[in-house]
Amino acid sequence: MPIPIARHRLMREMNEMAVMTVIRQHGPISRRHIAEITGLTKSTVTVAVQRLFSKHVLKELDSISTGPGRPERLLGLNSEAGYLLGSSIDATKCQVLLFDLQGKVLDHIAYDLKVGHAAQDTLKLVADAALVLLNKIPHEKYWGFGVSIPGIISAEGLVIHAPNLKWHDIAVGTFFNEWLPNPIYVVNDAQAGAIAEYYFGNALTSDLLLYLSLGMGIGGGVVMNGNLLIGAHGTGTEVGHMVISDNGPYCRCGRRGCFEAVASLRSLTERAMRAKDVVDWLKLDQIVSAFHNHEPWARQAVEETFYYLREGIVNLANIFDPDTIVLGGDLSRFGEDLRAQVEVPIESDIIIANNRNLTVRLTSLDDFTSALGAGAMALNTMVSARG
Ligand SMILES: [Zn+2]
Repeated sequence: MPIPIARHRLMREMNEMAVMTVIRQHGPISRRHIAEITGLTKSTVTVAVQRLFSKHVLKELDSISTGPGRPERLLGLNSEAGYLLGSSIDATKCQVLLFDLQGKVLDHIAYDLKVGHAAQDTLKLVADAALVLLNKIPHEKYWGFGVSIPGIISAEGLVIHAPNLKWHDIAVGTFFNEWLPNPIYVVNDAQAGAIAEYYFGNALTSDLLLYLSLGMGIGGGVVMNGNLLIGAHGTGTEVGHMVISDNGPYCRCGRRGCFEAVASLRSLTERAMRAKDVVDWLKLDQIVSAFHNHEPWARQAVEETFYYLREGIVNLANIFDPDTIVLGGDLSRFGEDLRAQVEVPIESDIIIANNRNLTVRLTSLDDFTSALGAGAMALNTMVSARG
């Protein structure tokens, strides 16, 4: 049965992205080795490589001899074929990155923001920074701009609600359209984090990647077979608002006991303030160092928060059946203490534990995760559109 045209085209683009990502992560690499890693046939790899050559994304490097027959040419990414701009905005800071196809950050501009900053002022600050960086590259090599925001975002780039920013109905996509060339993407921060981990965080072989952004709120992003799972209206995987504690504290969404009402940085800080019996807001640095110094108030607050994190993550593991869970955001500062606390109980508590291959790890992209992921949204578009 013939494959419908749209489906055929989509598969071709997915093959090209897979081949490009493998070359970026493993290059210099032969076509045969690409086929082994991606599971694609050799002829499919050859076609994808030819198309990527026509877009100037690849370069041929030295040959290697792996046995009888002709030596194999190795392929590398022409990382300077295109440049991307990625930005992230949260409650206290914004930044814009200029990076190449390899995910290497070439330049970046960051600003601290006052809590409650006005949307229009912040967006103008980001647009000005993006224009400064845009002027550092040849315009024909500009591949696109993406901005990540911790909120519910429509497919049209409207920020419907971003509680930590106190933003409602802000037309972010329309705003940037007036200042920057297309393509422009407005992406939920956790969904952007999932994309960044998939492309730049060595998770390409994951069939289902779950990324959790553990900050003042909790966000989730899922990449399934290379595609971001966004739901029917683009607002899916709002994992922070699943209820896991019936009589828990009120959440900013109005319900009680949501995941983020009991396991976020905000809830950790409030717990730590109660345990330490102070009224001033504690900084995460203070809580982390007191936790490492075994101060009882910090141990109690952190362990209680880890308990709820485990509860929520076990639920998510049962729902999504991930092979990779990546923990990012502010709470990833607890490092191995957090990762190990989460991993072991997950393995024993998930319903179908037998033969599960589940890796829990911390983000490797630090503060750049969401901005890289937002910018990387343009990779798909440009690989599809060029040539
Ligand atoms: Zn909620």
